[in-house]
Amino acid sequence: MPPDHLADVLAIAAHRDDVEQTCGGTLLRMGARGLRTAILDLTQGEAGTRGSADDRASEAAEAARLLGVSWRQALDLPDGAVANTLENRLKIARVLRLLRPRVVILPYWQARHPDHAITATLGYEACFLAGLSKAPAPPPAVRPPAVGPTAPSAQEAEGLSPHRPFKIVYASLYADVRPSFIVDITPFIEQRHAALMAYRSQYANQPTGSALFVPEEEIRERTFAEARHYGLLAGVKYGEPFVQKEVGLVDDLTLIPVQSI
Ligand SMILES: [Zn+2]
Repeated sequence: MPPDHLADVLAIAAHRDDVEQTCGGTLLRMGARGLRTAILDLTQGEAGTRGSADDRASEAAEAARLLGVSWRQALDLPDGAVANTLENRLKIARVLRLLRPRVVILPYWQARHPDHAITATLGYEACFLAGLSKAPAPPPAVRPPAVGPTAPSAQEAEGLSPHRPFKIVYASLYADVRPSFIVDITPFIEQRHAALMAYRSQYANQPTGSALFVPEEEIRERTFAEARHYGLLAGVKYGEPFVQKEVGLVDDLTLIPVQSI
């Protein structure tokens, strides 16, 4: 890893707790391999039925600790109205130039929640923009990160050299689509669940939103069942699914994983 990399793998998501649901086990696995991981949440959760944005900030910091990420920040895009604008692409591009990840994880581009679908396109275009040497000047900084150093000011950001991630993969847990590959998260399933349950304002049993939210005891069953389903596709116990737009490249046919018959 080059010394200027703050993160090898950066997960970008619309909402605090999205990463915990779709690729938290993968971040844990990458961390266990010695890679540096980071999370960028685009919104602060002010539109949620339960809890305030401040509740979710402290819960997100606790979840980041449980996931072992070295950096996490929430931008200030409006919750429920994420838009693919130049201003928003620049905010994300600044973070990409700061952290210089080799891999970016985005949500899959078709989703029930419009914020998730837009984040896929917005994130991809921000990755492109971050690599342009003559990109427009980034907007001023917002809140400091929950974990890790503060993003640079606009002046400092102008001094950051362009960076484009090598690889973009799409976390497809909630998409009705066949994954390109599965990450085996079997050793990390309990820790991933602990990170999700750090969002007490969202998932602990409570009267507010009880008709809308799944009871706490069923969250475990549902999330484990989904992970088991994707794990079975790849011949492991628990897995997280991803889609890549590119084809795979194989060096040795005898080393391709996942049994055929
Ligand atoms: Zn979400």
